[in-house]
Amino acid sequence: MSNITVCARFRPLSSKEKTNFGNSVCIRGIDSETFIFKDEKEEEFKFCFDRVFYENSEQVDVYEFLALPIIRDAVNAINGTIITYGQTGAGKTYSMEGPDILESDEHQKGLLQRAVNGLFECIKSSEESVKYTLKFSMVEIYMEKVRDLLDLSKDNIQIKESRVQGILLSGVTEISISDPAEAMQSLSSGIANRAVGETQMNMASSRSHCIYIFTVQQELNRVKRVKEGKFVLVDLAGSEKVEKTGAEGKVLEEAKTINKSLSALGNVINALTCSPGKANHIPYRDSKLTRILQDALGGNSRTALLCCCSPSSSNAPESLSTLRFGTRAKHI
Ligand code: ADP
Ligand code: MG
Repeated sequence: MSNITVCARFRPLSSKEKTNFGNSVCIRGIDSETFIFKDEKEEEFKFCFDRVFYENSEQVDVYEFLALPIIRDAVNAINGTIITYGQTGAGKTYSMEGPDILESDEHQKGLLQRAVNGLFECIKSSEESVKYTLKFSMVEIYMEKVRDLLDLSKDNIQIKESRVQGILLSGVTEISISDPAEAMQSLSSGIANRAVGETQMNMASSRSHCIYIFTVQQELNRVKRVKEGKFVLVDLAGSEKVEKTGAEGKVLEEAKTINKSLSALGNVINALTCSPGKANHIPYRDSKLTRILQDALGGNSRTALLCCCSPSSSNAPESLSTLRFGTRAKHI
Protein backbone atom coordinates (compact mmCIF):
# COMPACT_ATOMS: atom_id res chain seq x y z
CA MET A 1 0.00 0.00 0.00
CA SER A 2 1.92 3.00 -1.19
CA ASN A 3 -1.36 4.74 -1.57
CA ILE A 4 -2.79 6.19 1.57
CA THR A 5 -4.76 9.38 1.36
CA VAL A 6 -5.16 11.13 4.68
CA CYS A 7 -7.71 13.89 5.14
CA ALA A 8 -9.02 15.87 8.08
CA ARG A 9 -12.62 16.97 8.46
CA PHE A 10 -13.94 19.51 10.95
CA ARG A 11 -17.66 19.54 11.55
CA PRO A 12 -19.45 22.79 12.45
CA LEU A 13 -19.58 23.75 16.14
CA SER A 14 -22.50 22.00 17.81
CA SER A 15 -25.10 24.07 19.63
CA LYS A 16 -23.94 22.50 22.89
CA GLU A 17 -20.35 23.56 22.22
CA LYS A 18 -21.53 27.08 21.42
CA THR A 19 -23.65 27.33 24.57
CA ASN A 20 -21.07 25.88 26.94
CA PHE A 21 -17.82 27.11 25.47
CA GLY A 22 -18.68 29.97 23.15
CA ASN A 23 -17.38 30.22 19.62
CA SER A 24 -13.80 29.41 20.51
CA VAL A 25 -12.36 27.35 17.68
CA CYS A 26 -9.03 25.51 17.76
CA ILE A 27 -8.17 25.72 14.06
CA ARG A 28 -7.20 28.39 11.59
CA GLY A 29 -7.26 27.30 7.98
CA ILE A 30 -4.41 28.28 5.67
CA ASP A 31 -5.42 26.48 2.50
CA SER A 32 -7.12 23.28 1.39
CA GLU A 33 -4.22 21.20 2.73
CA THR A 34 -2.80 23.13 5.64
CA PHE A 35 -4.08 24.57 8.90
CA ILE A 36 -2.85 25.78 12.25
CA PHE A 37 -4.12 23.99 15.33
CA LYS A 38 -4.10 25.67 18.73
CA ASP A 39 -4.15 23.46 21.81
CA GLU A 40 -5.61 24.40 25.18
CA LYS A 41 -2.31 25.97 26.26
CA GLU A 42 -2.40 28.20 23.16
CA GLU A 43 0.50 26.31 21.64
CA GLU A 44 0.29 26.19 17.85
CA PHE A 45 0.87 23.21 15.57
CA LYS A 46 0.88 23.18 11.81
CA PHE A 47 -0.77 20.23 10.07
CA CYS A 48 -0.65 19.26 6.44
CA PHE A 49 -2.89 16.59 4.88
CA ASP A 50 -3.92 15.55 1.39
CA ARG A 51 -7.05 17.61 1.88
CA VAL A 52 -8.72 19.44 4.74
CA PHE A 53 -12.49 19.68 4.85
CA TYR A 54 -13.44 22.69 6.95
CA GLU A 55 -16.72 23.33 8.79
CA ASN A 56 -18.57 24.43 5.67
CA SER A 57 -17.46 21.47 3.53
CA GLU A 58 -20.06 19.57 1.56
CA GLN A 59 -20.66 15.84 1.73
CA VAL A 60 -20.23 15.65 -2.04
CA ASP A 61 -16.71 17.13 -1.80
CA VAL A 62 -15.68 14.44 0.66
CA TYR A 63 -17.17 11.79 -1.61
CA GLU A 64 -15.50 13.02 -4.77
CA PHE A 65 -12.10 13.40 -3.21
CA LEU A 66 -12.00 10.28 -1.03
CA ALA A 67 -14.37 7.71 -2.44
CA LEU A 68 -14.73 8.14 -6.16
CA PRO A 69 -11.17 7.09 -7.09
CA ILE A 70 -11.48 4.04 -4.87
CA ILE A 71 -14.84 3.07 -6.37
CA ARG A 72 -13.41 3.29 -9.87
CA ASP A 73 -10.60 0.99 -8.79
CA ALA A 74 -12.91 -1.51 -7.09
CA VAL A 75 -14.78 -1.92 -10.36
CA ASN A 76 -11.39 -2.73 -11.89
CA ALA A 77 -10.65 -5.39 -9.26
CA ILE A 78 -8.44 -3.24 -7.06
CA ASN A 79 -9.32 -3.28 -3.35
CA GLY A 80 -9.94 -0.08 -1.47
CA THR A 81 -10.85 1.06 2.01
CA ILE A 82 -12.19 4.24 3.57
CA ILE A 83 -11.79 4.59 7.31
CA THR A 84 -13.31 7.28 9.52
CA TYR A 85 -11.36 7.93 12.71
CA GLY A 86 -12.06 10.30 15.59
CA GLN A 87 -13.61 10.82 18.99
CA THR A 88 -17.32 10.16 19.52
CA GLY A 89 -19.35 13.06 18.16
CA ALA A 90 -16.65 14.16 15.70
CA GLY A 91 -18.66 13.36 12.55
CA LYS A 92 -17.59 9.82 11.53
CA THR A 93 -21.09 8.46 11.09
CA TYR A 94 -22.36 11.69 9.58
CA SER A 95 -19.65 11.41 6.94
CA MET A 96 -20.53 7.77 6.25
CA GLU A 97 -24.32 7.72 6.52
CA GLY A 98 -25.39 11.36 6.59
CA PRO A 99 -27.84 12.35 9.34
CA ASP A 100 -29.87 9.25 8.44
CA ILE A 101 -29.21 6.47 5.95
CA LEU A 102 -32.58 7.15 4.32
CA GLU A 103 -31.93 10.91 4.25
CA SER A 104 -33.62 12.41 1.25
CA ASP A 105 -31.88 15.79 1.20
CA GLU A 106 -29.35 15.44 -1.60
CA HIS A 107 -26.81 17.73 0.13
CA GLN A 108 -26.64 15.70 3.29
CA LYS A 109 -26.31 12.22 1.85
CA GLY A 110 -23.21 10.47 3.14
CA LEU A 111 -20.45 8.45 1.54
CA LEU A 112 -22.50 5.25 1.59
CA GLN A 113 -25.50 6.54 -0.34
CA ARG A 114 -23.21 8.19 -2.87
CA ALA A 115 -20.98 5.13 -3.12
CA VAL A 116 -23.93 2.88 -3.91
CA ASN A 117 -24.90 5.11 -6.83
CA GLY A 118 -21.29 5.51 -7.88
CA LEU A 119 -20.69 1.76 -7.96
CA PHE A 120 -23.67 1.15 -10.22
CA GLU A 121 -22.73 4.06 -12.48
CA CYS A 122 -19.17 2.76 -12.85
CA ILE A 123 -20.44 -0.72 -13.62
CA LYS A 124 -22.89 0.62 -16.19
CA SER A 125 -20.22 2.54 -18.04
CA SER A 126 -17.80 -0.40 -18.10
CA GLU A 127 -17.11 -2.88 -20.84
CA GLU A 128 -20.15 -4.83 -21.93
CA SER A 129 -18.36 -8.15 -22.35
CA VAL A 130 -17.87 -8.28 -18.61
CA LYS A 131 -20.61 -9.54 -16.33
CA TYR A 132 -20.62 -7.76 -12.98
CA THR A 133 -22.06 -8.99 -9.70
CA LEU A 134 -22.24 -6.71 -6.68
CA LYS A 135 -22.50 -8.16 -3.19
CA PHE A 136 -22.91 -6.53 0.17
CA SER A 137 -22.03 -7.63 3.71
CA MET A 138 -22.02 -5.70 6.93
CA VAL A 139 -20.43 -6.65 10.24
CA GLU A 140 -19.68 -5.09 13.57
CA ILE A 141 -16.74 -5.74 15.88
CA TYR A 142 -17.49 -5.37 19.56
CA MET A 143 -15.13 -6.63 22.26
CA GLU A 144 -13.17 -8.55 19.59
CA LYS A 145 -16.26 -10.45 18.49
CA VAL A 146 -17.57 -10.15 14.92
CA ARG A 147 -21.35 -9.98 14.44
CA ASP A 148 -23.19 -10.24 11.16
CA LEU A 149 -25.41 -7.18 10.89
CA LEU A 150 -27.49 -8.71 8.11
CA ASP A 151 -28.29 -11.74 10.29
CA LEU A 152 -28.07 -11.21 14.03
CA SER A 153 -28.19 -14.95 14.73
CA LYS A 154 -24.60 -15.07 13.45
CA ASP A 155 -23.03 -13.42 16.44
CA ASN A 156 -19.55 -14.88 16.35
CA ILE A 157 -18.24 -14.86 12.79
CA GLN A 158 -14.82 -16.44 12.39
CA ILE A 159 -12.10 -14.96 10.21
CA LYS A 160 -10.41 -17.47 7.91
CA GLU A 161 -7.73 -17.20 5.28
CA SER A 162 -7.82 -19.13 2.04
CA ARG A 163 -5.01 -19.18 -0.49
CA VAL A 164 -7.29 -18.39 -3.38
CA GLN A 165 -9.80 -16.02 -1.83
CA GLY A 166 -7.71 -14.39 0.85
CA ILE A 167 -9.37 -13.26 4.08
CA LEU A 168 -12.87 -14.64 4.54
CA LEU A 169 -15.60 -13.98 7.05
CA SER A 170 -16.77 -17.53 7.46
CA GLY A 171 -20.51 -17.87 6.81
CA VAL A 172 -21.15 -14.13 6.68
CA THR A 173 -24.34 -13.08 4.88
CA GLU A 174 -23.61 -11.76 1.40
CA ILE A 175 -26.54 -10.12 -0.32
CA SER A 176 -26.47 -9.81 -4.09
CA ILE A 177 -27.65 -6.37 -5.04
CA SER A 178 -28.79 -5.52 -8.51
CA ASP A 179 -29.74 -1.87 -8.17
CA PRO A 180 -29.24 1.09 -5.80
CA ALA A 181 -32.66 0.65 -4.17
CA GLU A 182 -31.84 -2.93 -3.19
CA ALA A 183 -28.51 -1.80 -1.81
CA MET A 184 -30.15 0.90 0.28
CA GLN A 185 -32.59 -1.64 1.68
CA SER A 186 -29.76 -3.92 2.85
CA LEU A 187 -27.83 -1.01 4.23
CA SER A 188 -30.71 0.34 6.25
CA SER A 189 -31.62 -3.08 7.61
CA GLY A 190 -27.99 -3.57 8.69
CA ILE A 191 -28.03 -0.21 10.43
CA ALA A 192 -31.36 -0.99 12.11
CA ASN A 193 -29.96 -4.36 13.26
CA ARG A 194 -27.00 -2.60 14.74
CA ALA A 195 -29.33 -0.57 16.92
CA VAL A 196 -31.19 -3.72 18.01
CA GLY A 197 -27.90 -5.35 19.02
CA GLU A 198 -26.88 -2.29 20.96
CA THR A 199 -30.02 -2.45 23.04
CA GLN A 200 -29.61 -6.18 23.62
CA MET A 201 -26.00 -5.76 24.70
CA ASN A 202 -26.49 -2.43 26.42
CA MET A 203 -23.73 -0.91 24.33
CA ALA A 204 -23.36 2.40 22.51
CA SER A 205 -22.69 2.27 18.77
CA SER A 206 -19.66 4.42 19.40
CA ARG A 207 -18.03 1.50 21.23
CA SER A 208 -17.96 -0.82 18.23
CA HIS A 209 -16.40 -0.76 14.76
CA CYS A 210 -18.84 -1.01 11.88
CA ILE A 211 -17.64 -2.44 8.56
CA TYR A 212 -19.52 -2.18 5.26
CA ILE A 213 -18.19 -4.45 2.52
CA PHE A 214 -19.06 -4.18 -1.17
CA THR A 215 -17.61 -6.91 -3.38
CA VAL A 216 -17.53 -6.30 -7.12
CA GLN A 217 -17.10 -9.50 -9.09
CA GLN A 218 -16.26 -9.48 -12.76
CA GLU A 219 -16.83 -12.48 -14.94
CA LEU A 220 -14.91 -12.31 -18.17
CA ASN A 221 -17.12 -14.43 -20.39
CA ARG A 222 -14.57 -15.38 -22.98
CA VAL A 223 -11.93 -16.65 -20.59
CA LYS A 224 -14.18 -17.84 -17.76
CA ARG A 225 -12.14 -15.98 -15.22
CA VAL A 226 -13.52 -14.19 -12.18
CA LYS A 227 -11.86 -11.08 -10.79
CA GLU A 228 -12.88 -9.37 -7.60
CA GLY A 229 -12.49 -5.94 -6.09
CA LYS A 230 -13.53 -5.12 -2.54
CA PHE A 231 -14.67 -1.69 -1.48
CA VAL A 232 -14.73 -1.47 2.31
CA LEU A 233 -15.93 1.37 4.52
CA VAL A 234 -15.10 1.40 8.21
CA ASP A 235 -16.80 3.56 10.83
CA LEU A 236 -14.45 3.10 13.76
CA ALA A 237 -15.29 3.12 17.46
CA GLY A 238 -14.69 6.46 19.17
CA SER A 239 -11.00 7.13 19.74
CA GLU A 240 -11.48 9.13 22.95
CA LYS A 241 -9.59 8.01 26.00
CA VAL A 242 -11.77 7.10 28.93
CA GLU A 243 -10.96 8.98 32.07
CA LYS A 244 -8.42 7.10 34.09
CA THR A 245 -10.37 7.71 37.22
CA GLY A 246 -13.92 6.49 37.34
CA ALA A 247 -13.86 3.99 34.49
CA GLU A 248 -14.24 0.49 35.73
CA GLY A 249 -15.74 -2.86 34.83
CA LYS A 250 -17.33 -3.04 31.42
CA VAL A 251 -16.50 0.52 30.38
CA LEU A 252 -12.83 0.01 31.14
CA GLU A 253 -12.76 -3.32 29.30
CA GLU A 254 -14.42 -1.73 26.25
CA ALA A 255 -11.96 1.15 26.30
CA LYS A 256 -8.96 -1.16 26.51
CA THR A 257 -10.22 -3.30 23.64
CA ILE A 258 -10.91 -0.27 21.43
CA ASN A 259 -7.56 1.24 22.26
CA LYS A 260 -5.82 -2.00 21.40
CA SER A 261 -7.50 -2.35 18.01
CA LEU A 262 -6.96 1.31 17.08
CA SER A 263 -3.29 0.98 17.98
CA ALA A 264 -3.13 -2.20 15.92
CA LEU A 265 -4.62 -0.29 12.97
CA GLY A 266 -2.04 2.45 13.38
CA ASN A 267 0.76 -0.11 13.55
CA VAL A 268 -0.42 -1.91 10.43
CA ILE A 269 -0.71 1.32 8.46
CA ASN A 270 2.75 2.34 9.68
CA ALA A 271 4.29 -0.98 8.72
CA LEU A 272 2.71 -0.77 5.26
CA THR A 273 3.70 2.82 4.52
CA CYS A 274 7.13 2.31 6.06
CA SER A 275 8.51 0.03 3.39
CA PRO A 276 6.03 -0.50 0.61
CA GLY A 277 6.66 -3.66 -1.35
CA LYS A 278 9.08 -4.99 1.22
CA ALA A 279 8.23 -8.25 2.91
CA ASN A 280 8.49 -6.91 6.43
CA HIS A 281 6.23 -8.20 9.15
CA ILE A 282 2.81 -6.56 9.13
CA PRO A 283 1.01 -7.19 12.43
CA TYR A 284 -2.45 -7.91 10.99
CA ARG A 285 -3.12 -10.56 13.60
CA ASP A 286 -3.00 -8.14 16.51
CA SER A 287 -6.73 -7.38 16.26
CA LYS A 288 -9.89 -8.57 14.51
CA LEU A 289 -10.13 -5.17 12.84
CA THR A 290 -6.74 -5.37 11.15
CA ARG A 291 -7.23 -9.03 10.32
CA ILE A 292 -10.51 -8.32 8.51
CA LEU A 293 -8.93 -5.38 6.70
CA GLN A 294 -5.80 -7.33 5.73
CA ASP A 295 -6.66 -7.67 2.01
CA ALA A 296 -8.22 -4.26 1.83
CA LEU A 297 -5.15 -2.55 3.30
CA GLY A 298 -2.29 -4.62 2.00
CA GLY A 299 -1.21 -5.69 -1.43
CA ASN A 300 -2.91 -4.24 -4.41
CA SER A 301 -5.06 -1.63 -2.73
CA ARG A 302 -5.85 1.97 -1.91
CA THR A 303 -6.69 3.37 1.50
CA ALA A 304 -8.21 6.64 2.60
CA LEU A 305 -8.33 7.83 6.17
CA LEU A 306 -10.74 10.58 7.20
CA CYS A 307 -9.73 12.10 10.54
CA CYS A 308 -12.90 13.61 11.98
CA CYS A 309 -12.61 16.40 14.53
CA SER A 310 -14.67 18.84 16.51
CA PRO A 311 -13.49 22.41 15.85
CA SER A 312 -14.21 23.47 19.44
CA SER A 313 -11.32 24.41 21.72
CA SER A 314 -13.07 22.37 24.39
CA ASN A 315 -12.20 19.20 22.42
CA ALA A 316 -8.66 20.26 21.51
CA PRO A 317 -6.83 17.38 23.26
CA GLU A 318 -8.89 14.69 21.51
CA SER A 319 -8.69 16.46 18.15
CA LEU A 320 -4.93 16.79 18.50
CA SER A 321 -4.65 13.08 19.18
CA THR A 322 -6.79 12.32 16.09
CA LEU A 323 -4.70 14.60 13.88
CA ARG A 324 -1.51 13.00 15.15
CA PHE A 325 -2.86 9.58 14.27
CA GLY A 326 -3.46 10.91 10.75
CA THR A 327 0.03 12.37 10.52
CA ARG A 328 1.63 9.10 11.61
CA ALA A 329 -0.36 7.25 8.98
CA LYS A 330 0.74 9.68 6.28
CA HIS A 331 4.49 9.82 6.47
CA ILE A 332 6.54 7.31 8.25
P1 ADP B 1 -19.51 10.17 15.44
O1 ADP B 1 -20.07 9.15 14.51
O2 ADP B 1 -18.08 10.52 15.12
O3 ADP B 1 -19.68 9.81 16.87
P2 ADP B 1 -21.62 11.82 14.40
O4 ADP B 1 -21.36 11.62 12.95
O5 ADP B 1 -22.74 11.06 14.98
O6 ADP B 1 -20.30 11.55 15.24
O7 ADP B 1 -21.79 13.39 14.62
C1 ADP B 1 -22.22 13.97 15.83
C2 ADP B 1 -23.27 15.04 15.55
O8 ADP B 1 -22.73 16.08 14.74
C3 ADP B 1 -24.47 14.51 14.79
O9 ADP B 1 -25.62 15.14 15.28
C4 ADP B 1 -24.19 14.90 13.36
O10 ADP B 1 -25.38 15.04 12.61
C5 ADP B 1 -23.47 16.22 13.53
N1 ADP B 1 -22.48 16.42 12.44
C6 ADP B 1 -21.34 15.76 12.29
N2 ADP B 1 -20.64 16.17 11.21
C7 ADP B 1 -21.39 17.16 10.66
C8 ADP B 1 -21.22 18.02 9.51
N3 ADP B 1 -20.13 17.94 8.73
N4 ADP B 1 -22.19 18.91 9.26
C9 ADP B 1 -23.27 19.00 10.04
N5 ADP B 1 -23.49 18.23 11.13
C10 ADP B 1 -22.58 17.31 11.44
MG1 MG C 1 -20.88 7.27 15.08
